[in-house]
Amino acid sequence: MSPTRKQDDKQRIEFLEGELRKRETEIALLKETSDTVSSELQLDSVLSIVAERAQRLVDAETVLIPILDQSLSQYIYRAGCGKNAAEIVGESLSLSIGICGWVFRHKRPWWHGVLSELEVEERNQWEHEAGTVILVPLIGKRSFLGGIAGINKTGGGEFDKNDLDILTMFASQVAIAIENAIFFEERKQAEEALQSLNQELEHRVNTRTKELAIANEELMHQALHDALTDIPNRTLLHDRLQQAIHAAQRERQSVALMMMDLDRFKEINDTMGHHSGDLVLQAVAARLRGTLRQSDTVARLGGDEFAMVLPGIGNQDSAIQAAQKILNAVQTPLVLEGRHLDIGVSLGIALYPDHGEESGLLMQRADVAMYAAKRNKSGYALYDAEVDRYSVDRLALQGELRHGIEHDELLLYYQPKIDFHSGRISGLEALVRWQHPRHGLMFPDDFIPLAERTGLIKPLTVWVLQAALRRCGAWQRDGLALTVAVNISASNLQDPHFPEVVATALTATGAGASWLELEITETAIMKEPAVAIAAIGKLNHMGVLLAIDDFGTGYSSMAYLKKLLVAKIKIDKSFVMDMHTNNNDAVIVRSLIGLGHNLGLSVVAEGVESAEVWDQLKVLGCDSAQGYSMSHPIPSEQLDDWLKQSPWGVKHK
Ligand code: C2E
Ligand code: MG
Ligand code: MG
Repeated sequence: MSPTRKQDDKQRIEFLEGELRKRETEIALLKETSDTVSSELQLDSVLSIVAERAQRLVDAETVLIPILDQSLSQYIYRAGCGKNAAEIVGESLSLSIGICGWVFRHKRPWWHGVLSELEVEERNQWEHEAGTVILVPLIGKRSFLGGIAGINKTGGGEFDKNDLDILTMFASQVAIAIENAIFFEERKQAEEALQSLNQELEHRVNTRTKELAIANEELMHQALHDALTDIPNRTLLHDRLQQAIHAAQRERQSVALMMMDLDRFKEINDTMGHHSGDLVLQAVAARLRGTLRQSDTVARLGGDEFAMVLPGIGNQDSAIQAAQKILNAVQTPLVLEGRHLDIGVSLGIALYPDHGEESGLLMQRADVAMYAAKRNKSGYALYDAEVDRYSVDRLALQGELRHGIEHDELLLYYQPKIDFHSGRISGLEALVRWQHPRHGLMFPDDFIPLAERTGLIKPLTVWVLQAALRRCGAWQRDGLALTVAVNISASNLQDPHFPEVVATALTATGAGASWLELEITETAIMKEPAVAIAAIGKLNHMGVLLAIDDFGTGYSSMAYLKKLLVAKIKIDKSFVMDMHTNNNDAVIVRSLIGLGHNLGLSVVAEGVESAEVWDQLKVLGCDSAQGYSMSHPIPSEQLDDWLKQSPWGVKHK
């Protein structure tokens, strides 16, 4: 063996030993890597270990790991190491281009040896970089995952077959671990997506629940509050009253229930319009709310009616004090559209337990007290059982009266007036009666005040006017010179349409205006003298006569008496009935006759029950008389017979 040969062999052995050691290192690295990555589940950790080991295995300047995106349309460089790797990791690349795309399409590794297989055109495209890149596919158990790419051999040169083999083996060893990590990551992402979906769903459900709760609350609020004033309505008031009663029961305390309505509210509505009416109601609600405590309830019952519950009130005196405070606050003039408006109210108080232990009864009694306050013009009134006797049936009666007017349950009786000068019947007064289905024949004192309070007086007066004028028209057609007198109330006179109503009735019945007399009390005129004067003026203009009824009982209206264009006064029967035995009465009647005559008015005496009184009146110069002595009021159907056989007779036209 030559020394050179020996030398060669030695070198060769050293070379082979080197190769062997290299192989041993590679195998150790492969094994260690596959052990390491198989226990790692985080994809990024797995990939960065893989990249780092791959770089050592093939001696690359840079290693990049493209992983097929879930969309399967592109790669993403998920990991890498070495030169420039940090800048590339995170970028993505379409599957249709580059070496990555080639590997995906062919499911084969790329290295420069591949070039010989390519078509000329493709080869030209890749040739200059082919040797500097090696890219082996990562194929898992189920799918193609991506690849491991080595770029630029350290120290120059090209990747060789050996690099390809070792990297291919390496790829096949780590592919399952990578597939697991990808799977793990996808599952984690899916879980996270699910979780965020759940959170989103939960959030939406919560929001919707909240919205529903708000809507529900809104509905509840609407159901329990008055829309105009936003204070509690009747339903809520009832509830609060009941609660207050329960609490008071336990603590042995009192509760005050107050009911209040506005005087002449209808008038505000009629003359200033509904909008103004609404503003007044809102202002009143605000004033009530501002006067009472937080724990008190202020409610609107409808229309111009309000109610208040004051729990834990000490006694009647403190209830009255509270009522006075309310009146002071509410009755302060209100400025509306530049006008000062006086707000008058009537307030009724009922106390638990003094006036009732049950909410319904208390409501009823506060209502009764309110009407007492209205009647007495006292502002407020405490419930009084004595007053209540008359009002128990009030509510029922109101509905029945409306029905009665509409269904002709009303009747007219006629009472004659005898003229002293001619000794004949000069006219008849129409007096209304109500044939009530249960109570029988009812007299005006029992239902006219109710009609006046509730506004039913308007349709009632229309009914009476029409019936009386129909009768009067018939007398005239029969040639009888008889007037008919119809009683009217204050609210008729204040109704701006009233003269029109009278005119219509006159036309409809064919009765001449000069045969109609309207009787109104002094008190009714004095409620609104200016309005009364204007209305009487209009009626006079139409040719209708006005008489002041019950003269002498109202407070003296001497100043107005001159201004009023009335034609007659009717001296109240309370002075007349006993004037033959009571000298005071006789003196009063005498002066009233004198007064009337001095004013140029005709004087009638009502309540003439005896011949003595008749004689006395005749001596005093009274113009005519009406009373039981001549006749009680006569039912309509008996009137014709009575007229025919009466001792006085009727003047003919
Ligand atoms: P008034 O207008 O003063 O009518 C006279 C009342 O005295 C009538 O009572 C009549 O029956 C009664 N009367 C007549 N002669 C005598 C007598 O000699 N002695 C006594 N003690 N009383 C006598 P009535 O019919 O019960 O009417 C009561 C009041 O009701 C009337 O008083 C009038 O103010 C009112 N009224 C009657 N009808 C109507 C109506 O249609 N509309 C209105 N608004 N009020 C009416
Ligand atoms: Mg009368
Ligand atoms: Mg009278």
